[in-house]
Amino acid sequence: MAKPLIVCRDLSIIYNKGKSNEFKALSGVNTDIYEGEYIILFGPSGCGKSTLMYSIQGSLPPGEGTLLIRGDDIYSYPPSERVYFQRYVMGIIFQSFNLIGSLSVLDNVALPMIFCNADKITRDRRAQSLLDRFGVGHVSHKIPAMLSGGQQQRVSVARSMVNDPKILLADEPTGNLDSVSTQQVMDKIDEINTFDRRTIIMVSHNAAHLSYAHRVYYLKDGVIVREVVNPQRKQIKPVREGETIVTELEQLARLFPYDSIDTLRVKSIVNFLTQDITFDQLSRLEHSTELFIKGKIDREAFVDSLVLPFERGGVEIPEKQAKKMSQIADRMIHQADDIRRFRAKKDNAGVFFSQHKLAERLRDHVLNMYNLKLNKEQDAHLVEMIADRVTGVIEDEQFNERLLLSVKNRGLGLTEKEADDVTRYFEKIIAQGVDVSYKN
Ligand code: ADP
Repeated sequence: MAKPLIVCRDLSIIYNKGKSNEFKALSGVNTDIYEGEYIILFGPSGCGKSTLMYSIQGSLPPGEGTLLIRGDDIYSYPPSERVYFQRYVMGIIFQSFNLIGSLSVLDNVALPMIFCNADKITRDRRAQSLLDRFGVGHVSHKIPAMLSGGQQQRVSVARSMVNDPKILLADEPTGNLDSVSTQQVMDKIDEINTFDRRTIIMVSHNAAHLSYAHRVYYLKDGVIVREVVNPQRKQIKPVREGETIVTELEQLARLFPYDSIDTLRVKSIVNFLTQDITFDQLSRLEHSTELFIKGKIDREAFVDSLVLPFERGGVEIPEKQAKKMSQIADRMIHQADDIRRFRAKKDNAGVFFSQHKLAERLRDHVLNMYNLKLNKEQDAHLVEMIADRVTGVIEDEQFNERLLLSVKNRGLGLTEKEADDVTRYFEKIIAQGVDVSYKN
C-alpha cells in the first residue's frame, strides 16, 4: 500500500514558548496526506490553518509530536538541505501575491531558478512558457503593478511551479480576488492537481472551494475537528474495505461547513422527522429557488427544475408538489416586494404607497392565503396589527397574541392554530421583504 507523503502525528505548534505571551496554535494534530491529493485546510480565521501549512512548508518546527515528509523529519535536515527541500519540493502561493514590484513579471517568475544554476535563456524560456500556460504570457514584460489582481495571482501560480515542485501550498490564494479571477485561479490550481498530478494543500475559509478537494480537514481552535471526504472525487487515500466513504453527515458537513458535529446530527434528525426530501435535493431546491428569486428563471422553468430527475440535475419531486411550491414561492416573493417597496418608499407603479394601504394589501394576502372570513371590526383590527408589525411597533409574539385576543379587546379571536399559521406566514413575508441590514 502506498505510504502517505506527509504525516503529522500529535503535532502541536506553540508560539512564543516560555514567554508570557505563549500561545498553542495547534494541538495534537494528526494528518495523512497522500501524493496527488488535493487537501483543503478549512476553518474560521485564527483556527490554525496557516500555522499547519507553514509547519509543513518547513518554517515552523513542531513543539510536540512529529512531522514527516516522504518519511523524513525535514526539521532535522542541515540548513542547506532544508533550503533545497523548500526550493524544489514545495511551491507556494500567497494571498497577497508577494511579487517583487521592481522586477518584470518574467523576472519574478524566473527568479527562483537563479539559485539552481540555470542560464538566463533557459530561465526565461521556462518562465515564459509557464506564463503562457496560465494566460499571462502577453504581459510578461510589464511590472506587477500594471496587472489586475487576478493576473498577478496567475503570475504567482506560474512562479510557484517554476522549479517543478512536488507539493503546492496555497495560503488563501483567492482571498483578494473578485469572483471571476477567483474562478480562473481555482481552475488553474485544479489543473495542476489533476493534469500535473501535484499534491495541493490549500488554506481556505471559502465553502465554495470545498468541492475541488479530495479531502477537507476542518480546524477549530487549533484542533482538527473532522475530516471530510469529497464523494465527487475518486479517492487517493486508501479506504479500508467496508468503511463507509460517504455518510449523510459528511455530505451535511460540506453544505454547512461551519457547524459542529452535534449541530449536523440535529439537522440530520430534524430533516428525517420533517421532510421527505434528502439534503442533496434540498440543496438543489435552494439553488433553483435562488435563481427564481433573482428572476433568472421564470415560474415555468422553476417548476421544470423541480420535477427534472435527479441524475439530470433536477430536484426530482412530484409535479403536483412542484407546482404548489412554485405557487407559494411566487406569492411570497410578490407579497414581500410590497414590503420592500414600502421600505424603499417607492412604488414601481408610481403610486405613493402609504402605510395604511400597504397594511390593507398585506391583509388581503393573508386572508387569501388562509381563507379567513372576517367581519368589519376584525378586518380593521388586522390592518392595524399588520401596520404595527411592519413598522416594528410590535414584535412577532405580540402580533401572535393579538390574533388570539377577543375582538372586543381589539384582537381577532382566532384559534391557536390559525394564529400560529398566520404569524408564521406573515413573518416569512416580512423576512423576505426586509434586508438584514435594516435590522442593524
Ligand atoms: P488561520 O490561518 O486559521 O487564520 P493562523 O494559523 O494564522 O490561523 O493563527 C492561529 C492562531 O495563532 C491565531 O490565534 C493567531 O493569532 C496565532 N498566531 C499566528 N501567528 C503567530 C505568531 N507569529 N505569534 C503568536 N501568535 C500567532
